[in-house]
Amino acid sequence: MKTINDFIFENKKALIRVDFNVPLNDEFKVTDATRIEAAKPTIVKILEDGGSVILMSHLGRPQGVEEKFSLNHIINVVSDVIGVQVKFAANCIGDDTEKAAAELQNGEVLLLENLRFHPEEKAGDKIFAEKLSKLGDIYINDAFGTAHRAHASTTIIAQFFPENKCFGLLLAKEIESLNSVLHNSKKPVTAIIGGAKVSSKIDVIKNIIDKVDNIIIGGGMAFTFIKVKGGKIGDSLVENDKLDVAQDILNLAKQKNTRIHLPIDVIAADAFSEDANTQICDAFEIPDGWMGLDAGPKTNIGFSFVIADSKTILWNGPVGVFEMDKFSKGTIEIGNAIADATAEGAFSLVGGGDSVAAVKQFGLAKKVSYISTGGGAMLEMLEGKTLPGIEAMMK
Ligand code: AMP
Repeated sequence: MKTINDFIFENKKALIRVDFNVPLNDEFKVTDATRIEAAKPTIVKILEDGGSVILMSHLGRPQGVEEKFSLNHIINVVSDVIGVQVKFAANCIGDDTEKAAAELQNGEVLLLENLRFHPEEKAGDKIFAEKLSKLGDIYINDAFGTAHRAHASTTIIAQFFPENKCFGLLLAKEIESLNSVLHNSKKPVTAIIGGAKVSSKIDVIKNIIDKVDNIIIGGGMAFTFIKVKGGKIGDSLVENDKLDVAQDILNLAKQKNTRIHLPIDVIAADAFSEDANTQICDAFEIPDGWMGLDAGPKTNIGFSFVIADSKTILWNGPVGVFEMDKFSKGTIEIGNAIADATAEGAFSLVGGGDSVAAVKQFGLAKKVSYISTGGGAMLEMLEGKTLPGIEAMMK
């Protein structure tokens, strides 16, 4: 695996695929610059080597050219983060852009307009990829968030740089962190898998089941498991068409000697609402008319105990409806237990939109070992798939 540390960028133009798909508010101001900050180390290394940088990214899901998705909204934030006034090319391909790239001086940065203004980007069009490739001497992929897509700028372009291509520092770190959880991991390894539905996490659970010692299953998806084990789940979320899958997972876990931990008690509510009445009840004895919306106190103690005893921890998905204060305690306790275990020397990796949001919301971002920047890409890696953007760099 080649990274930017294998190259010296003096007098070179680095063409970097970054993930600057950042949230904007109604006034088109960036509300969270995490993704831009995450790309900074790669950009800075190139500039310090004496090279120049051409940045390409998508933003949102435009249908053709749509001003609200223009990357010109983020020029100032990118400039502030990197510490260099960034130039802008109003189209990511074309004569003017080629000229701007050719004239770029060492130490300068050029940001290209939204790649997805051209449908060829998502289509993985080879001619479009070749046009992009003309802009730089060395291609760098530093966009983990789109590494699972075979788009022109993330995958197809790599073939035009047979020797001169490598991973940026962010992407290399993502791969390294996931590898240190799935392979080379210190035992005991614990995965906490939560969220609404088991259907979206089946392949993840099946792939990690023989790589981990414990799987904590929380959130809405736990009830499909509790039901198949004969529990009464009241009006809790359940996927009745996935009962057999849940049973398969339980059987597989037994075979592989992996312990599955389910909630033993829950905070049950009489409505899916912050104003609902609540009671603590046995997770296997939830009355009709009530739904489990958070892990209960005994569960929190049990889950925390498993986490405290772990040397490697992976967390994807909340164990309750953490967006509502009333049902956020279980998810907070998971976050705190992970933070404590990390302070004691465990390696912890948090990924997936909702758990990352939870970790940030509860002020734990600095207390975990690594926060993954790519939800879908991380899930696909956890499912054991080879990501096209990563594979293309290895050829
Ligand atoms: P996912 O996108 O599959 O990771 O699911 C995240 C969502 O699951 C969050 O919005 C949570 O509110 C929701 N969730 C967690 N626990 C429950 C539960 N017990 N019942 C319903 N929804 C839940």
